[in-house]
Amino acid sequence: MRVVDLGVEVVEKIDLFTGKRLKLSKIELNDSFDVLDLSKRFSKSWESDISVVSSYMYDKNLVFGSQYNIKGDKITPVLDISDIDLESFEKNFFEIKKNNPEKYELSKRLFILCSQSVPEISLKRFGLAENIELKKLHSMFMQARIANMPVPKTFRGRRVSVWIKSILHSYLRSKNILIPTSEELRRGEETHSIKGALTFAPESGVHFNVVVVDFDSMYPSLIDSYNLSHETIDCGDKQCEGNKVPRLTQHCVCTKRRGVYSILIGSLKDLRVYWFKPRSKNKGLSENERVLAEVTSKFLKLILVSSYGVVIRIEGISRSSLGEAITAYGRYSLRRAYEIAKEKGLHPIYGDTDSLFLENPSNSEVDWLVKTIKHKLKLDMSIEARYNLCVLPKAAKAYFGIKKDGSADIKGLTAIKSNSPVYVHKTFHSCIDELKNVEDKAEFDAAKSRIRKVVSKAISDLQQGKISLEDLEYKVAIHEDPKKKIKGVALHQPYQCAIQLLNLGRTVKRWDIMHFIKVKPFNYNSKRFTVKPTELLKSIHEINIEDYVRNLTTALNQTFKPMDISFSDQEQGKRTLLDFSKN
Ligand SMILES: [Zn+2]
Repeated sequence: MRVVDLGVEVVEKIDLFTGKRLKLSKIELNDSFDVLDLSKRFSKSWESDISVVSSYMYDKNLVFGSQYNIKGDKITPVLDISDIDLESFEKNFFEIKKNNPEKYELSKRLFILCSQSVPEISLKRFGLAENIELKKLHSMFMQARIANMPVPKTFRGRRVSVWIKSILHSYLRSKNILIPTSEELRRGEETHSIKGALTFAPESGVHFNVVVVDFDSMYPSLIDSYNLSHETIDCGDKQCEGNKVPRLTQHCVCTKRRGVYSILIGSLKDLRVYWFKPRSKNKGLSENERVLAEVTSKFLKLILVSSYGVVIRIEGISRSSLGEAITAYGRYSLRRAYEIAKEKGLHPIYGDTDSLFLENPSNSEVDWLVKTIKHKLKLDMSIEARYNLCVLPKAAKAYFGIKKDGSADIKGLTAIKSNSPVYVHKTFHSCIDELKNVEDKAEFDAAKSRIRKVVSKAISDLQQGKISLEDLEYKVAIHEDPKKKIKGVALHQPYQCAIQLLNLGRTVKRWDIMHFIKVKPFNYNSKRFTVKPTELLKSIHEINIEDYVRNLTTALNQTFKPMDISFSDQEQGKRTLLDFSKN
């Protein structure tokens, strides 16, 4: 048996959920004993998974990655801030200070911490031998300061949940709130699947002058604006019972207290939007200041985009009904935005998660909508894209739009899958090019006939052997060792390629990329093969032209059907694309 040298002290802490004071025994270890192991000997313990070093830092109100002056027992932080920066910060955060003092207080603290210069030190001091570039060093210090984690721990990217936990723990400790166990934090709820975002069915077809408006970082904004936090969902106060989560009426949200998670995420969002992001683009600043702002803004974005995911998935941050409330407010906001737009006589043609597509709105109508949403929903929207022309298929989550400058946004379409050959990509992009500057129906009809010609030409070029082998080549990685596949009855094309290479005495391993051409079927060791490694192709006559044409038309159809251009023989009598090209 081992004798453990313990110090026991009674401390007062605040309960996150009730706000009441709790009396607890605080155990301090005077020798190096495994804290987790020791905690198992008590019927219940808190905060045992927080490292001794972190605990020390939190209790002394210190932040990793900051500079301090140490004189005897006195440790004072170095917090240099120029009057210009401070004034400019106060100006940007004036409204927030008025309406949201807790959020403001945290933002200001982090703003000052992250405005300090980064010491130019060798990483050897942290036991890291590698040389790293300045940007990475800056980024490590900013991460350490925001998440209050030791600098060396930021060296190899952490999982984002580790950052968020650290941010939460550090904040709770600074407010003398007892960090709940993971079970307490999820209020005993089992983790379950959660209803996701709202999608409005797209109005299939071609639309001119489409403006896409987006909610700015939607989930973090909802968490902030609607006070969504572990302890604010079903807070238990009588007077909060009326503040129901939209269409999720078994849950309500506290109207009396600001939620901790809401303050944290809201503050980090404000810092990114109103300070670091604009500074990262401010040419009036020194290169060094811009880099600091850029790495901080990037890190904040990473935290923000994960702020919803962690509350549904990560033990120690999760609470299912908080996740449900976030998506419920998300669906509510998009639905309200859609309705508000319609009531005003605008024409929404598609909506997904955080974005709304409006057909042919005037600038003043868009301005009105953004202002109204801000007023009614307390959420910011901004213009994400303006398309001269936008094509929506029947299925959601796939579309393309041509911007005023002629560039195209292409989302979720099979034509541009990375492993289809360059030939298909080039043909698709040549078609899209014909839609540049198209602004109305007449121009569109003219473009349609040009697109037909582009496709006809692509096919006749293929038939006449004018397409280079390089452009016809498929490049596909193999996910398994091809030697294990040899005995299989039907072999996928990449493995057909691998086996031919193996028989030439080449080494082919898992994850290698196969380069092959589709050829007319042939017998290979009494199996039917349909591809050859590019280097083994002997004659252009081996190429399976029909197969390439079929692949091209399948890829193009998804995009062009809603435009009323179809290349399939079912839809146009018995005309195949080959017949089509003879017109
Ligand atoms: Zn309440």
